[in-house]
Amino acid sequence: MTTVPILTAVELYKTFRISAPGHAHAVLTALDRVSLQLATGETLGIAGESGCGKSTLAKVMAGLLTPDAGSVLFKGTPLSQLAKNDRTEFRRRTQMIFQDPFSSLNPRMRIGDSISEPLKIAGMADPQRREELSRLIAAVGLDGNAVNRFPDEFSGGQRQRIGIARALAASPEILIADEPVSSLDISIQAQIINILLQMKQDFSLSMIMVSHNLLVLRHICDRIIIMYLGAIVECGPAAELFRRCRHPYTEALIAAIPGVQSSIVSKGELLRDDLPSPLSIPPGCRFHPRCRHAVERCHREVPALVEYADGHTAACHLSRQLYG
Ligand code: SF4
Repeated sequence: MTTVPILTAVELYKTFRISAPGHAHAVLTALDRVSLQLATGETLGIAGESGCGKSTLAKVMAGLLTPDAGSVLFKGTPLSQLAKNDRTEFRRRTQMIFQDPFSSLNPRMRIGDSISEPLKIAGMADPQRREELSRLIAAVGLDGNAVNRFPDEFSGGQRQRIGIARALAASPEILIADEPVSSLDISIQAQIINILLQMKQDFSLSMIMVSHNLLVLRHICDRIIIMYLGAIVECGPAAELFRRCRHPYTEALIAAIPGVQSSIVSKGELLRDDLPSPLSIPPGCRFHPRCRHAVERCHREVPALVEYADGHTAACHLSRQLYG
């Protein structure tokens, strides 16, 4: 029997109309036919450089943005077909944690009130609500006195703990974290990651973790998706991706991590030039202007995502020649 994924993306396509110098009313393609599945209990990482579409993908998966085409399915049902009550339930069951938790907190509201707001909306009575608030505060490692203070009295790491507690108050099944540690000191990053791992276990969560930091994703995720200019170029089990990636872009990202050696060449030779503008995505393989392996075919033919091993896919014409 096949288990239905808790969250599925089918051929997501998302554009934004923007005004940019030399590009009056330009159209930016943030997602280009992105498909993925999140299994119940799984942690899925989404990686790539800034502007690759990973945050847009996270927001579309959370139902905060509507795709131009394609669909998101919650337990097999497209969000667009959910009845009003079911859609409200999806919103409650799918919580997001942002890079800057301060922006999602009311600066004039004591954090006890902010965290317990979802409990109030769910109709939880006062004594039980206070008990649950204490439990959540303790779960994310905050002092009990924190409930009476305001957001600007906390450090970045503490605010992220508040953001996690507030997300958990809604009793989510899915947690989508968008760069939750990238603005924090390295020692605080480890603390927040450990809290997320613990919460995943304690609250039986399925998680999507967006980060440009592949080491963080390797530590926390079962599978990792690599995005480049709005498209998935590789997806595979986290450990296998590091052991044997199957796309030159993934190889370049791994080689660029300080302390991680590439078995092939030094990192300086791997990534050519800067990321092209997402306003003019290169034809053929979108990575070809930066790829040291590019051949004539790469300039004109879009590579399909091909499965090379169980659950490990890559979009590169030369993947088999390069990686066996
Ligand atoms: Fe490089 Fe060609 Fe593979 Fe694209 S398809 S990653 S350009 S070798």
